[in-house]
Amino acid sequence: MRHAWRELIRTARRMSTEGLVVGTSGNVSARVGDRLLITPTGVPYDELGDDDLVAVDLRGRQTDGTLRPTSELPMHLAVYGSTPARAVVHTHAVHATAVSTLVPELPAVHYATAALGGAVRVAPYALYGTEELAAGMLRALAGRSACLLQNHGTVAYGDDLAQAYDRTAQLEWMCRVWLAARSVPGLSPSLLSAGQLEEAAERLKGYGQP
Ligand code: 13P
Ligand code: ZN
Repeated sequence: MRHAWRELIRTARRMSTEGLVVGTSGNVSARVGDRLLITPTGVPYDELGDDDLVAVDLRGRQTDGTLRPTSELPMHLAVYGSTPARAVVHTHAVHATAVSTLVPELPAVHYATAALGGAVRVAPYALYGTEELAAGMLRALAGRSACLLQNHGTVAYGDDLAQAYDRTAQLEWMCRVWLAARSVPGLSPSLLSAGQLEEAAERLKGYGQP
């Protein structure tokens, strides 16, 4: 648990230092057995230490720590309840949040779309921290490992914190690419077809070192 908590703090701080959140925005969780380690609500990430560990069970009841868990606990619980997630990252990344105000789905401008399970959907706006937001997010996540939250930010999950974080960063980068491409006057970005995305998904299975 200690080791996993330290990794969680590192991931939360990375969101800040790499510009995916400002202040105490965003939150991070990771599954350890039948417990979830999760960032506390409203605490600056650089102030989090070993003694601040917060854990809940899979129904959201606090098992460890005295700090109150993130206000987005319903969203994190929903992801673990319906997907194979081992880690979840939520951010307010600038380009992703901008895109969430413009379209119901991020157009497939890059093959990295395939790594997230297909065109990334935008969950309809709902008040932060609500079951309504969690339910909309879950619908947007169907068959995907990431989604956008309208007028709010991003959610991504993975097999571990590194993967959930990397998916978030890739999503933010793709949103930036789309915004840059669509802002050229008189031109609009070419998009990848379903066939091209399928082909990319197939090839990505063998990506990286054996
Ligand atoms: P917390 O500080 O409660 O995690 O809230 C941040 C946030 O991003 C809410 O959507
Ligand atoms: Zn948020």
